Amino acid sequence: MIGAIEAGGTKIVCAVADRKELPRVAERISIPTRTPEETLPKIVSFFKQYPVEAIGIGSFGPIDVNQDSSTYGFITNTPKLAWRNFDFLGAIRAAFDLPYFWTTDVNAAAFGEQQYGAARFAKNSIYITVGTGIGGGVILNGKVMEGRGHPEIGHIYINQLASDPFEGNCPYHSNCLEGLAAGPAIEVRAGQKAEQLNATDALWQIEAHYLAQACVNYTLSFAPEVIVFGGGVMKQTHLFPLIQEQFQMLLGGYMETTAVESFIVPCKLRDNAGIVGSLALAEQLI
Ligand code: ADP
Ligand code: ZN
Repeated sequence: MIGAIEAGGTKIVCAVADRKELPRVAERISIPTRTPEETLPKIVSFFKQYPVEAIGIGSFGPIDVNQDSSTYGFITNTPKLAWRNFDFLGAIRAAFDLPYFWTTDVNAAAFGEQQYGAARFAKNSIYITVGTGIGGGVILNGKVMEGRGHPEIGHIYINQLASDPFEGNCPYHSNCLEGLAAGPAIEVRAGQKAEQLNATDALWQIEAHYLAQACVNYTLSFAPEVIVFGGGVMKQTHLFPLIQEQFQMLLGGYMETTAVESFIVPCKLRDNAGIVGSLALAEQLI
């Protein structure tokens, strides 16, 4: 069997699967993310029940993915203080001496969508989630892209529209994509939750424009075959045609992509992408 851990800020999902039955999950549990001292024993006792051969971990970040670093496997500068500079991989490894794939939650989701979801059959794909924040993963030639660290493609700079006076709410950058286009940014502008906003509201045009700018930048940087969007905000399916139209206009025909309707698409695995991707990453280790 193979195992997966999807560690999020509010809950940690652990799952096991039969290697031959992927993407079917055999068993799973969801544990509230409290302190490491409280949460880790629950993770360990879950996996103790199964003959697990490898584990894929997709964690909230930022995390250290540099194998040459002395803090490889650590959650680093997170606002969740109990988890800051915590050796997450080391703690799991101390319980189970197995092969591990250690990466971010969004990289795991990107891999899941590529293996079993909306980016299936693509060798190069991008996954972006637009929710409380914006994060994404890049798959190049079938592999999760990581360099000295993991990319942070939700924080790229955006050319702000003159018609949009909002100053952005990322504490690090005023006009990055996350600060301008994540759910809370929509909420500040609208004075109500994004999910309550009418589909015809002009704010969606602004939202689509910024997401289209991001797609152009990702396309120019990584030449993917497909860009997959997930996250709560993207449940507004009327955004897709708006993003596709803006994308074509902004790219200006400079680079060839497949038809835009199949180039910028919604995710298929939804809440399962991270866990399925982590399982698939574990499976590749065997
Ligand atoms: P998280 O990012 O915390 O994992 P979500 O992906 O659900 O969780 O993102 C939450 C954000 O998405 C909130 O800002 C919320 O207002 C927004 N959101 C959730 N559902 C919808 C929806 N159906 N339409 C528009 N925005 C939504
Ligand atoms: Zn930012």
